[in-house]
Amino acid sequence: MIPVFDGHNDLLQRIVAAGPGGQDLWLKGNGQGHMDLPRIRKGGMVGGFFAIWVPSPAGFDDEDALRQLENPPFRLPLPDPIPPAQAIPHAMQQAAALLSLERTGTLRVVRGITDLHEAMAQGQVAAIMHMEGIEAIPDMDALHLWHRLGLRSLGPVWSRNTRYADGVPFAYPATPDIGAGLSPEGKRLVAECNALRIMLDLSHLNEAGFNDIARLSDAPLVASHSCAHAICPSSRNLTDRQLQVIAESRGLVGLNYASSFLREDGRRLPLENLDVMLRHMDHMLAILGEDGVALGSDFDGALMPADLADVAAVPNLIAAMERAGYGEALIRKITSENWISVLERTWKDG
Ligand SMILES: [Zn+2]
Repeated sequence: MIPVFDGHNDLLQRIVAAGPGGQDLWLKGNGQGHMDLPRIRKGGMVGGFFAIWVPSPAGFDDEDALRQLENPPFRLPLPDPIPPAQAIPHAMQQAAALLSLERTGTLRVVRGITDLHEAMAQGQVAAIMHMEGIEAIPDMDALHLWHRLGLRSLGPVWSRNTRYADGVPFAYPATPDIGAGLSPEGKRLVAECNALRIMLDLSHLNEAGFNDIARLSDAPLVASHSCAHAICPSSRNLTDRQLQVIAESRGLVGLNYASSFLREDGRRLPLENLDVMLRHMDHMLAILGEDGVALGSDFDGALMPADLADVAAVPNLIAAMERAGYGEALIRKITSENWISVLERTWKDG
């Protein structure tokens, strides 16, 4: 079985919602959502980034927004910023949920490369604690605290503004060039993440913020769950110029499985087959090279293609790559090796 290392999932919110049944949901599943341990094993997933994300109180996934997302053109307003006092309890609950999964013995929250390799060798899911939008990190002292808790990857924004940067609004057709770059605090954040060897994630940043991090960071540039703007001109996708900048840093892009970022028409409706996904992959390979493309599913956070209904279905994507003529060495790079080697270059702990 081909091992899969995945760049982004939103499972932790479902674990939190299950309350005291969170470990049980992980170990057995409940037939809902996209991920649980049995389906992770079935799909060959050996590790990935588990996102902590604070939901916006209202307005993003209401009926009107969904109707707009199904009928481009659209440009959704950015949800209101969330104050730290409101964000911190959510973030703490999700971090606690991830650590509760670790106590089942089936998953390890990895804090470095040695840890990551050990977890995989022991058949534990190698989980990276990631934060998508850092409203729960009000200052650099809090960043150090979260690092102690196990945080090894963060995106300064979800599609919502923080004190560090501006998020990119969901818009189609549109470029990511909407809004301002990093604030002075955001620039300090980049330096502090570089010093702590916390991976910085460019997904959800607008173009000005992307450019600031590209200029300031000493780590390979990474977008954990994004697609190619040349094929689907969504504001959330990466332009060819951005892909080129990532390539020059020896960085990586995790291909997002979300139907709305894959479909050429940008509609939030299930993608019918995986052909267009392969076109995104080919396009990214042409610019980023064989070491710069990986996977970033967005499981439990987005509307999936019909043939990728959950993590157990990832072998369908691998079969599509085989049919498209990708050799096994390239498939293994895309499905796990590229993530692991970019983490080696970022964390530098072994
Ligand atoms: Zn996301």
